[in-house]
Amino acid sequence: MSIDFTLSPEAEAIRARVRAFVGEVVKPAEDKLQGIRDLDRAEYVTLLLSLRDQAKAAGLWLPHMPVEWGGMALGHVELAMVQAEAAKAYYGPFVLNCQAPDEGNMHTLLHWADDAQKEKYLRPLCEGRVMSCFAMTEPEVAGSDPTLIQTSAVLDGDTWVLNGHKWFISNAHRARFAIVIARTETDPEIPQAANSAFLVDLPSDGWTEVREIETMHGGTGHSEILIENLRVPAANLLGGRGNGHLLGQYRLGPARLAHCMRWIAQAETALDMMVDRSLNRFAHGSLLADKQGVQWMIADSTMEIYQAKLMVLHAAYRIDHGLEFKSEVSMAKHFVANMLNKVIDRAIQVHGALGYSTDTPLAHMYQQARWARIADGSDEIHQMRIAQRTLAAYREHASTRTATGDLPL
Ligand SMILES: Cc1cc2nc3c(=O)[nH]c(=O)nc-3n(C[C@H](O)[C@H](O)[C@H](O)COP(=O)(O)OP(=O)(O)OC[C@H]3O[C@@H](n4cnc5c(N)ncnc54)[C@H](O)[C@@H]3O)c2cc1C
Repeated sequence: MSIDFTLSPEAEAIRARVRAFVGEVVKPAEDKLQGIRDLDRAEYVTLLLSLRDQAKAAGLWLPHMPVEWGGMALGHVELAMVQAEAAKAYYGPFVLNCQAPDEGNMHTLLHWADDAQKEKYLRPLCEGRVMSCFAMTEPEVAGSDPTLIQTSAVLDGDTWVLNGHKWFISNAHRARFAIVIARTETDPEIPQAANSAFLVDLPSDGWTEVREIETMHGGTGHSEILIENLRVPAANLLGGRGNGHLLGQYRLGPARLAHCMRWIAQAETALDMMVDRSLNRFAHGSLLADKQGVQWMIADSTMEIYQAKLMVLHAAYRIDHGLEFKSEVSMAKHFVANMLNKVIDRAIQVHGALGYSTDTPLAHMYQQARWARIADGSDEIHQMRIAQRTLAAYREHASTRTATGDLPL
């Protein structure tokens, strides 16, 4: 067995290029982007698109996609460091075209779509010409349990007729197509096989955006959608009847891990800020950095980020090597989401009133971080699944070892 955490020279070079691009091109443009975002939409979009053009020209485009789709063909371990570098800037993932939910939808289409669907939906997504959304959650039933989904799809000749109600559909406002999960089977063999996935062109008759939901970080593109007699051609069924649940699970593996990679970058930013502040703020005869109480916050954050990195790298390794990865991704997602919230909270604490203000990015980061414990599998659902696997491992092997990362330790 070998454990080698050094990157290949090629991967190291890519990391250096992403870091330089984010630091020298994306970050300097960010203040301007934030400033004009609500004032001059045309200028905002033009500047964002020009950043994307520069990323493409620099060969830093679609790190997660194969070369034939215009991507960099990175494995998940390499992707981890690219995502972590990109997310050092708020717009970094978008500029490299590896942002949620498009990134997860690209993985899904690459794996599940037929050739015609790939050309029509995946191609423009990869070229950065359109955006997409994934519509599963409904206000009336618990999103944690997709077997409860009520949106229905009924076959009428060669079209499916969809009716239902979705909410918290990220990006729906800007999307040119949606992957919609709806119930097609009335009497499935197992409850998980009741749903199917559909590709829906947007805008479409029968698809109404009721509102963009105002959240604790503002109204930022999570929409409530009413679906009324929406007609979808039979050819737009994605992945076969009854495979909606499988498709959702498949999508969420790499997508959850990509979130973790971006969250690590955010946590590192918060820790850097925590340390910088503690080295520059003087109270009670010494710097905050000299206080044991503050050192504990720094130490806890440092250890948690380290744990997060190891968990993400190991889960990425398992995906790259074709090994079962559900449990490792689940554990990483839960751990990193909670780590992010704790580290930002400590950074705010060390900044005092300044941390509570919007003069630093911390307040915004804190509001953003809270959803990490809810979306893409909430904390308790991951805990439930992790516990189930641990119990099953013990029942099978009289040992929990395989459930704790299946490492040779
Ligand atoms: C910012 C954001 C973006 C999102 N984007 C999308 C999107 O693009 N597309 C989409 O389809 N959805 C999206 N969602 C929805 C998200 O996937 C759901 O919120 C999530 O699946 C939880 O569903 P729910 O909100 O209905 O909570 P519920 O299922 O009602 O759960 C409520 C609480 O109960 C807990 N709970 C549930 N079951 C158990 C149990 N067995 N034991 C203990 N506790 C339990 C949950 O963990 C949760 O804390 C988004 C959500 C957010 C916040």
